[in-house]
Amino acid sequence: MRSSERECSARWEHAFEADPAEKEKYYLTVAFPYPSGAMHVGHGRTYIVPDVVARYQRMRGKQVLFPMAFHVTGTPVIGISKRIANGDAKTVGLYRDLYRVPQDILDRFINPMEIVRHFSEEYRRVMQKCGLSIDWRRRFITVDPQYSKFIEWQYAHLHEDEHVVKGAHPVKYCPQCENPVGDHDLLEGDKAEIIKFTLVVFSWGDALVPCATLRPETVYGVTNLWINPETTYVRVTLDGKEWILSREAAAKLALQDHEVRVGEEIPGTALIDQTVSHPLSGEIPVLPATFVDPDMGTGIVMSVPAHAPFDYIALRDLQQQGKYTAIRPVPLISVEGYGEIPAKDAVERAGIRDQNDPGMEALTQEVYSAEFSRGKVFDKYGGKPVREARDDVAVLMMERYGSIPMYEFDNRQVICRCGSRVFVKILHDQWFLEYSDPCWKEQVKTQLDEMALVPPEVRTEFNRTVDWLKDWACTRRVGLGTKLPWDPTWIIEPLSDSTIYMAYYTIAHHLNAIAPEKLTPDVFEYIFKGEGNPTTVDRETLDRIRSEFLYWYPYDYRFSAKDLISNHLTFQLFHHRAIFPAKLQPKGMVVFGMGLLNGAKMSSSKGNVFLLEDALEEFGADTVRMFLVGSAEPWQDFDWRNELVSSTRKQIERFWTTVEEAKQAKGASDIDAWLASRLQHRIESVTAALDSFQTRQALQEAFFGVEADLKWYRRRLPEGATGGAVMQDLCRTWVRLLAPIIPFTCETLWSEIGGEGMVSFAPWPEVDEARVNPDVELAEELLSRTVEDIESIVKLIPIEPKSISLFVAPAWKHEAFRIIAASTDKTRVVREIMQNEEMRKRGREATDAAKQITKLVLKLPPELVKQLAGSSPDEQAVLEGARSFLEHEFGVPVTVRNAEESTHPKASGALPFKPAIVIE
Ligand SMILES: [Zn+2]
Repeated sequence: MRSSERECSARWEHAFEADPAEKEKYYLTVAFPYPSGAMHVGHGRTYIVPDVVARYQRMRGKQVLFPMAFHVTGTPVIGISKRIANGDAKTVGLYRDLYRVPQDILDRFINPMEIVRHFSEEYRRVMQKCGLSIDWRRRFITVDPQYSKFIEWQYAHLHEDEHVVKGAHPVKYCPQCENPVGDHDLLEGDKAEIIKFTLVVFSWGDALVPCATLRPETVYGVTNLWINPETTYVRVTLDGKEWILSREAAAKLALQDHEVRVGEEIPGTALIDQTVSHPLSGEIPVLPATFVDPDMGTGIVMSVPAHAPFDYIALRDLQQQGKYTAIRPVPLISVEGYGEIPAKDAVERAGIRDQNDPGMEALTQEVYSAEFSRGKVFDKYGGKPVREARDDVAVLMMERYGSIPMYEFDNRQVICRCGSRVFVKILHDQWFLEYSDPCWKEQVKTQLDEMALVPPEVRTEFNRTVDWLKDWACTRRVGLGTKLPWDPTWIIEPLSDSTIYMAYYTIAHHLNAIAPEKLTPDVFEYIFKGEGNPTTVDRETLDRIRSEFLYWYPYDYRFSAKDLISNHLTFQLFHHRAIFPAKLQPKGMVVFGMGLLNGAKMSSSKGNVFLLEDALEEFGADTVRMFLVGSAEPWQDFDWRNELVSSTRKQIERFWTTVEEAKQAKGASDIDAWLASRLQHRIESVTAALDSFQTRQALQEAFFGVEADLKWYRRRLPEGATGGAVMQDLCRTWVRLLAPIIPFTCETLWSEIGGEGMVSFAPWPEVDEARVNPDVELAEELLSRTVEDIESIVKLIPIEPKSISLFVAPAWKHEAFRIIAASTDKTRVVREIMQNEEMRKRGREATDAAKQITKLVLKLPPELVKQLAGSSPDEQAVLEGARSFLEHEFGVPVTVRNAEESTHPKASGALPFKPAIVIE
């Protein structure tokens, strides 16, 4: 089969180059890869599933565009290049041993562009090996000069419309790289969020003691501070004032716009039992608490035992040792559902033993949300709802009482790829995409409402992302990429230069033929908006390019993994809204699950990957495709296991053999009509599944469904027969149904069975209503179920069967079946039956039958029940007609009789669609 793979690849080389045509278009895109290493099987699925869709839509007669490009912007390849140049053993090992880069090429990797060049070529080669039906003419990399011109145009627009603004903002920052870091630059903590705390500043002699809080309004209820007696604090000069806080906090605040000079050390014990004061809470003592983390906030905590379960329980623990017994919680918020002291209430209700109780986290959250959503501060503190009072008090404290904000991540480790810890830094002169702009958010939400999102569950996540997105630092000082057009000391970072490139694909191959310096902003203005009067490129060319853009755009579907919802997939919606008119907005997205390898998350850096090329070599492209499609629906996580992949190969071999053998098939049998009818249903379900991106379901129907039909068909053929002309017909359909999933096999088979042209462009099979035959299908269903019943009885009985008698249910039971099937309340149906005079006359016999039939109706597939209630087959005729088949199957004489004509005690057990069976 490998030589046939090569043959197909040659035939396909230019086949999928799609130009505008006089037919409906279908434009799908995938998030382009960052080619810094070899592809693994997880990447494989990301591109193979969209390819299945592309191939399917092409066979549906659409003009399909499936392009690909490579994203190389940013610092990752620069970092890799540096590490290789420095002889870093781990990196060299990864590239030489896992990715198997030849030494002479590896030596050139000291130039980052060589890494990009090598792996983008590798990606393309392996993608072709996978049979991806890509239009490669449109390929580009994001540092191509033409692409940079496009990005310059995009950013000029964003700048003009004030979507890019300069400002000071807290961002994730790596002190070692001296650069802000995006999620892609992180080893750990890519979901961490920046939280703004208020520092409440207490006085202690001439020094200030700050406590970080998310609940400044609770300052009225502070009873004490907590200090860790095991921590060494430092005295610092912060913006000219004396502060006492943890060493970690001092370092963090130094990154957040403060001038910090660290002075003498102060042991935590020196602060214990001291008195501090704040104008809003008066004089309070400092108490010891080992739970206080010097790496969280300032390392000093203000205690509000009435409203913070942690503080309440810590104080209670101390008081149980007889210490600080004079301190009482000071409540300041009333909240429905809680008593006077909510923290006390919550702790006692939850039965918390001490501060180490694992339930504390959840309890804290519970009280926090209850008070935030429903709480009101006491009248003497203003009487406002907590959510308002919180902001009022924060503002008051900033203005009058020396408070400042402090930024922290939400409690998670955030680590840069370089290994350094990442901190929050306030950046100045930094350019930000203003994703916080409520108007822009609103536009994106409107857009989302109009889009098809698959699976539907992701809609909530998209809306949530739009809500919480904050301004995004979109430029960097170092890295590959496009310079910010109006401030070229900055480079546009990777997640910001990859938001509308789907539009670029539509014209990329035309732009490659134009010198970059001619691609001025007004050229793009004309191409994408039809405005202006550019002179650097002739009008005829520009019109041709513009009409191609308008033919393909907007894109129909974008496919990507679910971890990109929180950044890329949402960013691109913002940018589309900002740049393109309403009718060119994205139409749909399909969001993928993640890949596992033998049950564990795939990760190149941890070595837990199986390279896609190795899989293709070992199993063949179609096997890899079929396994990846069959293991899960696109939005589910999938697990690659080599041992399961082998059985997939055998399945393809069976398919191949069947189609090959059917080439000789001729003649006809009674059962042919059944097979033809079944096939129509398969066509219908495969089509429906692919229309809704259920590629796994499509494969189930197209492969296993048809195979199951064939198994029954072969069993039902007269002895010696191998299948009639209907088989040839089936195979012509079957090859086309499977072509999107296993295109190499199907392309070759299509030629072998005399199909016209390439199967890749053959018309998708359509249901032929004339061949749908419900009566024949129902008759076979009855027969196959009866065969199954006989088989299970034969297994149970100890004797060697001598004969089989089948008793079919009499007409009145069929009547009862119809009544029961139509009844909406199956619990009352027996009574309903007995209202019928005919039935009542039968007495006990009818009641029993009604109960049995009710059970049967509930057990059968609802669709089948509906069919049977409409027209049930003449069971006696069906089984009689299949008598010689049954005798052959079981090797004994078979008789078929109406149950009413027999006195055999078991005959009365006959039910509609379930004959009584007697084996003697
Ligand atoms: Zn770093």
